[in-house]
Amino acid sequence: METGLLTQIGAATSGNFLPAALALICLLQYAYYAWRSDSGRSILNRYRNDVSGLENEVASINRDRSLTRIENQVLREILGQSGFDKSLALLLKRFLPDSNEGFAAIVRFESDGLYVQQARGLDPQSRQQLAVDPETEELLRAGKTVVLEGGTLARSRLFASLTPNDRRHAQTLFLVGIGQGSDLFAFLLTSSLIPVGAHRDEQLELARRLMLCVSGNLRQTVAIEKQSNLLRSTREMLELKSIADSYPDQPLKMLERFISRLLQLTGAERGALYMLVKDSPAGPKLLAKSGLSLPVGIEGRWTQLEEMLLHTGFTQTQLLSYTEHDLRRLGIDSLISSAVTCPIRHGQVVTGLLCLTRRNQVPLLPAEVQLVQWAGETLGTTIQRALAFVAIERQARQDGLTELANRRTFDLQLQREMQLVEQGVSVECSLLLCDLDRFKMINDHYGHQAGDEVLRQTAARLKEQLLHMRASDRKLLARYGGEEMAILLPGVGVNGAMRIAETVREAIAKKPFPFGGEHLPITLSIGVATCPLQSTTAAGLIQAADAALYKAKSSGRNCVCSTFDTPVLST
Ligand code: GH3
Ligand code: MG
Ligand code: MG
Repeated sequence: METGLLTQIGAATSGNFLPAALALICLLQYAYYAWRSDSGRSILNRYRNDVSGLENEVASINRDRSLTRIENQVLREILGQSGFDKSLALLLKRFLPDSNEGFAAIVRFESDGLYVQQARGLDPQSRQQLAVDPETEELLRAGKTVVLEGGTLARSRLFASLTPNDRRHAQTLFLVGIGQGSDLFAFLLTSSLIPVGAHRDEQLELARRLMLCVSGNLRQTVAIEKQSNLLRSTREMLELKSIADSYPDQPLKMLERFISRLLQLTGAERGALYMLVKDSPAGPKLLAKSGLSLPVGIEGRWTQLEEMLLHTGFTQTQLLSYTEHDLRRLGIDSLISSAVTCPIRHGQVVTGLLCLTRRNQVPLLPAEVQLVQWAGETLGTTIQRALAFVAIERQARQDGLTELANRRTFDLQLQREMQLVEQGVSVECSLLLCDLDRFKMINDHYGHQAGDEVLRQTAARLKEQLLHMRASDRKLLARYGGEEMAILLPGVGVNGAMRIAETVREAIAKKPFPFGGEHLPITLSIGVATCPLQSTTAAGLIQAADAALYKAKSSGRNCVCSTFDTPVLST
């Protein structure tokens, strides 16, 4: 087309110059107009772009201004509180005005998991077991805000760690880190954001800004809290240690005081120490307990529930902290709402269980659990020391062969009982001196070992007889010397004593003693004496019983005698 025009111009130049010139001018004008309108449009576009950029900037400035306004308002409000804990509580309240509609929490990263610094609307059980996926933690460390919803939320570890009640409120969960990278130390977890109705990006931006503002204070509070916890727990440990080192001669009293103080320090209401007893069909034995005094019926029920905890506690080598939910799963649905069991070890072997319980459903705090753990370890060594002491004490009081009280113990108690009669506290007291008949022959015939075995079996039979006798609370069975045993019966008169003596004699005589495939016929002669009837002194009573025994021997043995009367009962 351009070539055509030039030809025409060429022709015009040669033929008619004016029209050609006019056409050229028009053409040039047209070309100029076309060029002008194009550049005008691009200028307009540019102008429009500039205006829209300006509008956006103004909107963003306005948005920023309103965010800053809210941010300032919230900060003014929360930082005006008297303590940082109150500030955090108010901050969470800002995010979640109605605690029934969701939850908000400040959660700390600790070496052993997450720790909820402060929460609103979150179940205690969720607080206890809160967890996040490693990927979520990574995102927070990278400075990203995490929004969990739909399938991502349903598959998350965080969702799994919530109670069903909290899950109902968790349609969308927002996590905003506090600190970044290796410095990330906590995060805000919330089911709702502010300002209500604003765009989510704006809401998250505000949450980020607020977290940035509180991070310094929070870090400081945590550091102070940790330090004061450390100081407090050191003080508490020292205090418990000094109790553990006290009362070396009264281990049970020491244990009760130790548990009692531990209860005060942890806020638990009842504490009990159970020990495993070798070959005991009755199961673990309650060694010491302390705490709340309850009406008999409730006390019994509480102990039953405590025993239910033992079953699980003794199968574990670690300390266990139970929430109300855990307890329900074990069938404990009344009285106890939170508990801790801590194994007591001797070396690597679990020998006992410390069991702390309370009605309060808030589980023990980590610092309190740590103290229980330490107490368990301390009791491990303390109990060994106490048991060694008890063993030494027992050895000092017991006869090694028969495991009956020894002569020294017998003499002391006899003195005491005589005093009680003299003071009128006790009315009477009887003594039975039992001597095995022709025991020398057993030694001579079957050997000394057979003699020892007969002494052991005699002691066991006498013990069994006295166990079933409701004759006296303070009755004592002792090895008086050689093949002689003494039975002290406080509060028992001559007739009662004669009857008991006869039962005892019969229990020995009625069945021969098995030894090395043989059955040895064994009999006893018993001398009975009663205070104050025959004597009011220990020496006098022994003398009277000895005389009665002599009488029984001379009456043909295997019989019961008293010098107060002629043999009343005999074979
Ligand atoms: P009697 O009926 O007159 O009491 O005659 P007996 O043989 O029982 O009395 P005797 O006093 O003559 O002998 C007591 C024997 O008891 C002498 C002693 O060797 C024995 N004996 C004392 N203590 C023990 C002991 O611990 N083990 C053994 N195997 N024998 C003992
Ligand atoms: Mg003798
Ligand atoms: Mg004898």
